[in-house]
Amino acid sequence: MAKLVFLGSGGGRYAMATQSRATGGFRVDMDGVNIHVDPGPGALVRAKEYGVNIRNTDVIMLSHVHLDHSNDCNAVIDAMTEGTKNPKGILVGSVSAVRGYENDSPAVLKMYLKTLENVVVMKAGDSTNLKNITVKATPTRHTDPTCIGFRIEGSKTISYTSDGEYFPELNKYHQKADLLIINMLRPDNDKWPMHMNLENAITLIKETEPKLCVLQHFGMKVIERDPDKQALKAAKETGVDVIAAADGMKLDLDKNYTPLSKYIRK
Ligand SMILES: [Zn+2]
Repeated sequence: MAKLVFLGSGGGRYAMATQSRATGGFRVDMDGVNIHVDPGPGALVRAKEYGVNIRNTDVIMLSHVHLDHSNDCNAVIDAMTEGTKNPKGILVGSVSAVRGYENDSPAVLKMYLKTLENVVVMKAGDSTNLKNITVKATPTRHTDPTCIGFRIEGSKTISYTSDGEYFPELNKYHQKADLLIINMLRPDNDKWPMHMNLENAITLIKETEPKLCVLQHFGMKVIERDPDKQALKAAKETGVDVIAAADGMKLDLDKNYTPLSKYIRK
């Protein structure tokens, strides 16, 4: 069983500041484990809005320290541990998010690190087991040099690029997933350092051949050009089912994802 809820589809500072698209991260409920990936600003509010019980969280995963990925992590830990009274849960995160990179502060407050059952700091290439699920940290090239993606392997495989630019070896770490989630900040061939655009996403989809791909983490330029239209371009060019995440979108990976048009959200 593998279900997802997207508590946001926006990313980058302008989409985040204006909440043109929500930035609460996404939830994975797979094989009895509830995971919250990258709880950015609004994670708690969006969870309430989209019917997710945030207290029902087993694992928090932080790909990096940037605010649009980690801002609400302390609030999620507080909720899942009943205000630190009931220590539980596992935190899996990058060096920057958990320990702090060089002189920068980490995202997680020390008082909350103590309330967790386990804290796993991951670098690209590391792997850890969470009950029946294996999590592998995948490399990125991003402005946070410790940023990692996640490959979550259980009854389904979910491969998440997190932020970062396209590079030729990236495809090695995201091959043939049931679901590939790509953070696409920019539309078409619009370039922005250390992030992917639609052209990069199309290349990665062709190279990795996922069963289904969700594009998310949209900056303002993607939002202005309509994420659904961007996803449709990728679907047509790759022959893969490519969906633009919508705020509150739910996916059940045990369902069949064809035909394409059924999943193009308006
Ligand atoms: Zn970032």
